[in-house]
Amino acid sequence: MDNHPRPPHIAPMDAIIIGGGLNGPLTALALDAAGLRSVVLDAGAAPDLDRPFDGRAYSLALGSMRMLGALGLTDGLVSQPILGIRASDGRPGEGAAPLFLDLDHAEVGEGPLGHMVEDRHLRAALHRACAAEGIEMRFGARVVDQAPGRVTLEGGEALEAALVVGCDGRASGTAQRAGLRRLRKDYGQTSLVCAVEHARDHEGIAHQFFMPAGPLAILPLTGRRSSLVWTEDRDVAEELNALPDDQYLDLLRPRFGSFLGALSLVGKRGTYPLTLDLATELVAERIALVGDAGHGIHPIAGQGLNLGVKDAAALAQVVADARRRGEDFGSLPVLRRYQRWRRFDATAMALATDGVNRLFSNDDPVLRGLRDLGMGVVSRTGPLRRGFMRIAAGVAGDVPNLLRGERP
Ligand SMILES: Cc1cc2nc3c(=O)[nH]c(=O)nc-3n(C[C@H](O)[C@H](O)[C@H](O)COP(=O)(O)OP(=O)(O)OC[C@H]3O[C@@H](n4cnc5c(N)ncnc54)[C@H](O)[C@@H]3O)c2cc1C
Repeated sequence: MDNHPRPPHIAPMDAIIIGGGLNGPLTALALDAAGLRSVVLDAGAAPDLDRPFDGRAYSLALGSMRMLGALGLTDGLVSQPILGIRASDGRPGEGAAPLFLDLDHAEVGEGPLGHMVEDRHLRAALHRACAAEGIEMRFGARVVDQAPGRVTLEGGEALEAALVVGCDGRASGTAQRAGLRRLRKDYGQTSLVCAVEHARDHEGIAHQFFMPAGPLAILPLTGRRSSLVWTEDRDVAEELNALPDDQYLDLLRPRFGSFLGALSLVGKRGTYPLTLDLATELVAERIALVGDAGHGIHPIAGQGLNLGVKDAAALAQVVADARRRGEDFGSLPVLRRYQRWRRFDATAMALATDGVNRLFSNDDPVLRGLRDLGMGVVSRTGPLRRGFMRIAAGVAGDVPNLLRGERP
């Protein structure tokens, strides 16, 4: 890849990507690195890339950051390194339980465990990189119909390519139109998302407090700011969301505790009703699903986007290998290799986050005792702790080249 802007690709495309959220442009860039020309279609309006901080941010694992680096996305990207993760059991006003999981990046020895990146910065970096590679992103382009290798937009325009990639999120129309079945579970929980400024330094530590109704994640942003994902039962979350900022903060403080000093809200507050949405198949003839279109999971471990990053890297590698062998990269046998590579990992993470949510989001005294003990054992057992950290950092298992910072 060079850094000189190229004109938008002229049809025909190798791949059509449905969905221009985060995974759509990322997949286009990964496929570009594999030598494929793509167009990205999104039904919505183009986002304002110069907007102020809106409260949304993501924890991106070490492996995901390596891929962003390999695609030229980290040059100038503002991000906060995550140097440690601490998890503890808690109740509002009681502070952390004495036994907690304490992970330090120095033990993995490969740099920070991950980085916190604000949504506005990540989106702007993706759009800039697509423009630099000549990848067209079309907004206001809603896909309403599809056949293998062909999509039709609202208004009747048809586009053709050897591969159609569905990056259209949890309610993926690409999956529905291809007849790919999805499993759905409503958690009955909602995450309240916001950011706070605090008086003391966070020192790059991410905290997870497991409260009876759901976890409270406190994730370090640049400066003396942290991003919060505060999960409650849905009706409680709706009541909290309706409160003015000062009352909202009054209820947040006893959950948050005083370890970072005085708190104030920054940016906007948002809410996300939580569901598990799992496609039973990730591919069909000339169709592949990437990101939330294939697996929308509970945010308890901050792994949803990281799974999508791995999907994009694996798809690019499978396609690059197929092209080197002279195979039709959009054919079902080739795409099944992508599915074999990604389905187990995505399903395992979906089930793990579902299980952790069930085990931790309750106030049963026996379960509280067991999980405190469990976290204490993991924390004090070197190999177990290091294994845990390698999973959190996204460098465990059969990792695609791009996640090692190499070409697909
Ligand atoms: C509270 C919360 C906190 C989270 N925190 C983290 C975290 O810290 N780390 C992490 O890794 N993950 C995190 N996640 C998960 C992460 O946000 C998602 O995995 C990610 O945003 C999904 O991106 P996507 O591009 O797959 O889908 P979306 O962002 O849903 O994008 C889908 C796009 O498809 C478009 N589209 C839909 N239908 C059509 C159509 N017919 N035609 C054209 N376009 C269409 C839409 O307009 C949209 O832009 C979190 C999630 C939640 C809810």
